[in-house]
Amino acid sequence: MTEETKRRVLERVEQILAHQDGPLKTINDLEQIALNVRDEVVKATLEEATKQIEQDRHKIQQDQPEEAESQEAKPETQTLRVAYKLPCHHCQKNAYFKGMRSKKIQTLAGWITLKRAYYHCQRCHQGFYPKDVEQQVTGHMTLRLAQEVVALCVCMPYDLALQTLARLTSIRLSGRSAQRLCSQVIAPQVEQYLGQRQQEMLPLAFQMREQCPADLPTPEVLYIEADGVHTPMRDGTWREMKVGVVRAEFKDGREQMPAQYLATLEEASKFGKHWEALALKCGSLKADSLAVLGDGATWIWNLASTCFPRAVQILDFFHASEYVAAVGQDIFGESKQPWLTARLAEMKSSFWSRFWEAIEALDRPDLESVSRLKTYFGNNASRMDYGDYLRRHLCIGSGLAESSCKRIVSQRLKGSGMRWSGVGGEVIARLRGFFFSNELDAFFAFWSRRAFEPATSPLL
Ligand SMILES: [Zn+2]
Repeated sequence: MTEETKRRVLERVEQILAHQDGPLKTINDLEQIALNVRDEVVKATLEEATKQIEQDRHKIQQDQPEEAESQEAKPETQTLRVAYKLPCHHCQKNAYFKGMRSKKIQTLAGWITLKRAYYHCQRCHQGFYPKDVEQQVTGHMTLRLAQEVVALCVCMPYDLALQTLARLTSIRLSGRSAQRLCSQVIAPQVEQYLGQRQQEMLPLAFQMREQCPADLPTPEVLYIEADGVHTPMRDGTWREMKVGVVRAEFKDGREQMPAQYLATLEEASKFGKHWEALALKCGSLKADSLAVLGDGATWIWNLASTCFPRAVQILDFFHASEYVAAVGQDIFGESKQPWLTARLAEMKSSFWSRFWEAIEALDRPDLESVSRLKTYFGNNASRMDYGDYLRRHLCIGSGLAESSCKRIVSQRLKGSGMRWSGVGGEVIARLRGFFFSNELDAFFAFWSRRAFEPATSPLL
């Protein structure tokens, strides 16, 4: 910042403070003065910066083709020089300087106009602004503002998110620009972030336990759960969002780790890779025991067998008990409770001979609820040794997966009138997974590292 700018900013602050006469009565008065000072400093700084850039415009001198062997721009003391040609950002062939173009950028502190060199490639007919990458600008926003917008859109519907932003910061954005930010800018970054996790984690599955990185957690039990929830799509159809949760339990509760979530519209095999990488990150190789919990969905058990071969598979007790309750309801109506309680107790102690005797004693093979129970229990028999699981102090309920479907998907994606494009629904669901796993900041750090270079020269 120039001396001139500093002097002007300080003058503005002095003016505000000079107008403050009389003693301050409440803390609200003090807050108002502090905010006035902040606003004035911000305004003066941005005005001065913009003026500075306007002046610099006249000093820009383009490198001549004859002297452009070196493609590097050589900043001089008085004149800003720009390269005559640069490698195209899209195809790496030569792109040529086409002049300076200005763009209004919204920052958390207000608008600023950025003038920067524009290059165009004759080969692929695409243009780019090298400075936008260096200045960490995404579309018409600074990176920091874009992150705040994304965080709000993850938590609430787009229109509410932007109203909240306007209320807290006086920044007004259109719902379209927020949606575009999420689907076009963030979605590919999320894809890369999860891709990198898979690259780092999946090869570990073939290593010995002792060779695992020491910084991976060592839980006593790792619960790995999954469930599906239908999501309304723009074309009027519903698609299943698959939700995975991994929760670690440590000896004596010494360590704490928030449950880790993921949600995706992708097909089961791709979900499986994400699920496995997430479990590896949570210490699935080092855990004393692994348990996969789920309802009766076939895709969950198929994946569990391939992704976590050493895990105990446990059918959610509540789902199983609903089948028994349906039979009880058909036979005994409202007075089914004593019969039902006895059956559930037999299930919990794996006393299956008595359980099936009781079902046969009803002598109602004609009832649909009875045949449904037999099919469901038959398909899942190997996952219902509840007596054994309880002796080993393992959970037998997958309530976490079901509540995660509500938290991650339903509460944000199934509001009234909501319809999603494949990309739009996917990116919000994945980001909500990060949010509830306490991982959103790690993703933002990855994004700014990957998408932007550190600035090497002054603003202009
Ligand atoms: Zn090109």
